[in-house]
Amino acid sequence: MPEEAGFSIDCAFPGGNIVLERSEGADVFVHQDLRDTAGDWFYWCFRVRGAQGRTLRFHFTKSNVIGVRGPAVSLDAGHSWQWLGTDGVDGQSFTYAFGADAENVRFSFGMPYQESNLRAFTQRHRGAAGLIVEPHCTSRKGRQVERLRAGCLDRAPAHRVLLGCRHHCCEMMASYAVEGIMEQVLSDTPEGNWLREYVEFLVLPFADKDGVEDGDQGKNREPRDHGRDYAGTSLYPETGALRDYVPVWSEDRLRAALDLHCPAIRGPHNEVIYLVGSQEQIVWREQSRFSQILEAVQQGPLRHSAKDNLPFGQAWNKAKNYSKGKGMKSWAQELPGVKLASGIELPYANAAGGEVNQETARLFGHDLARALRAYLGG
Ligand SMILES: [Zn+2]
Repeated sequence: MPEEAGFSIDCAFPGGNIVLERSEGADVFVHQDLRDTAGDWFYWCFRVRGAQGRTLRFHFTKSNVIGVRGPAVSLDAGHSWQWLGTDGVDGQSFTYAFGADAENVRFSFGMPYQESNLRAFTQRHRGAAGLIVEPHCTSRKGRQVERLRAGCLDRAPAHRVLLGCRHHCCEMMASYAVEGIMEQVLSDTPEGNWLREYVEFLVLPFADKDGVEDGDQGKNREPRDHGRDYAGTSLYPETGALRDYVPVWSEDRLRAALDLHCPAIRGPHNEVIYLVGSQEQIVWREQSRFSQILEAVQQGPLRHSAKDNLPFGQAWNKAKNYSKGKGMKSWAQELPGVKLASGIELPYANAAGGEVNQETARLFGHDLARALRAYLGG
């Protein structure tokens, strides 16, 4: 960015992603960095410094990558985020009036959840009975990849549950739901007390750790998407280590495996919470049963309806979509003892009219924990 512009734009922080093309006065031209993505995708996250008191217009030049509640903005270095809304959005561009003291502002397609968020969560619960953070593997780029075990840890539990997230690294809103499940497991509530008595959870919060921290899209990554890495020999340490560890850990007590995702930007199946239907009828029946339980026990502002689930064979959920490999849910449904295996899609911004944000996504996680308790017989 030329000095005379007086402000700077960059993405040199965890989760950052932008290509700055040029600026002309108050107009800034940028696009998302696709890196090794096959086709187009929409994740971006950048920082503007030194623009306090100015009004700038940001133009995305490649495709429309602004979500249904506008961009998300953070004034505290990515800790808390709010949707800007669509008033300042015009097609592929948005306008932002920087406050007089807004020296450092981040914008993103969503509300990024990084390793630092997970660390803050585990710090908040440090020393809590029922939570262990342990090393899972080392990523391709040398990062430590965490896994969490939570719930009933001091003896053999009645049930085990596997949770996966960020197989597509850009799908950050799902991470807040996973955090919400964990919060509920650790809570002094009837649900938490029951889950800690009878259930052990294994959580892989970042199935693509490098992508999360580097700010990649991850979806449709070449040569292989992490969400298709459960067939043949795994390319990635995170998925390979999970395939090795889970059968040993489960001791045939693994009952449910949920892989949390976010869908695409807008339109059908992208603005509702839904389960991705299995091709196995026996699993699909369990998914439907779980959905009905979730409908019955949910208390949060984001509402799930079983009618929104996507049966196998409809829309994108077709055999040809799985031709490049196998996802976590398809692998997990074949493990001994597993009854429920499902992908769950949580929209980035709008879930059947409910605003998805850091707090409501966590509350949806609370509802998932309630539903798991009821599903497992509590
Ligand atoms: Zn996904």
